Amino acid sequence: LSDRDGKIWLDRQLVEWRDAKVHVLTHTLHYGCGVFEGVRAYQTAQGTQIFRLHDHTKRLFNSAKVLRMPLPFTQDEINEAHKEVVRVNQLASCYLRPLAWLGSEKLGVNPRGNTIHAMVAAWEWGAYLGEEGMARGIRIKTSSFNRHHVNIQMSQAKAVSNYTNSILANLEATDDGYDEALLLDTAGFVSEGSGENFFIVKDGVIYTPDLSAGALNGITRNTVLHIAQDLGLEVVQKRITRDEVYIADEAFFTGTAAEVTPIRELDRVEIGIGSRGPITEQIQMAYFDIVNGRNPKYAHWLTPVNA
Ligand code: PMP
Repeated sequence: LSDRDGKIWLDRQLVEWRDAKVHVLTHTLHYGCGVFEGVRAYQTAQGTQIFRLHDHTKRLFNSAKVLRMPLPFTQDEINEAHKEVVRVNQLASCYLRPLAWLGSEKLGVNPRGNTIHAMVAAWEWGAYLGEEGMARGIRIKTSSFNRHHVNIQMSQAKAVSNYTNSILANLEATDDGYDEALLLDTAGFVSEGSGENFFIVKDGVIYTPDLSAGALNGITRNTVLHIAQDLGLEVVQKRITRDEVYIADEAFFTGTAAEVTPIRELDRVEIGIGSRGPITEQIQMAYFDIVNGRNPKYAHWLTPVNA
């Protein structure tokens, strides 16, 4: 990913892709105190637009607040940086990755005295869990790793250090031949995927873990709550057990990268019809209508990169 043409926004400058580097003594590289986002831009009839950019940037700043990292940038500057990297790299649809980290002035756990930096990069990235998974559903496995307890890692921060847990869970599941992991909270209730929020459908009602299970407050999750309301579907946020998932009619993951990905199997137990369920498909279609600019009700969630 580092060896390609293009430009990356780094501390208010557009730098050559290959020159966007940090020093090996960067504090965040050693202790993991950094925050990031995953954002997508879609090619719409009105040109390329970034989906819920302001909400992502707000979450980035909130993550930094939780980690006590005062970012020396305004939200407007970071928003503009997103638009700029899409334009300058001439991307139609893409994934965007903003990241803020601590510099290399000093090491030691106490981070004070380090400068704070930010970058935004953009590149093409297709369906996170595969095109086939989007149509047929993916196979997942309950992880032996629990999602962070809410007082061990800050689960509402999209913090760099939170992701070793996600990596371990994802590797365990994929090494065992599954597509993704499902993490339970420390009390044993369903929390989320390694990089996705989780939903089930049972008797026409949608259920998703409430945020006390330590899941990230996903922006796609929130979009799906709006979609469900528009479709007249009830959504209940509550504790969910893994056997409730086995006997659910449908299940799906949501995330900026994963979008709306159907789940057809958990722990080798087929869920519902063992393929993408009808309500999941309806939500998926509605999601793609919104992000692709085909639903005027949500035009305010789209930021044109050229305006
Ligand atoms: N949970 C985790 C752990 C994630 O990394 C992500 C991806 N950001 C999500 C949930 C989904 O969040 P969003 O819909 O805001 O991308």
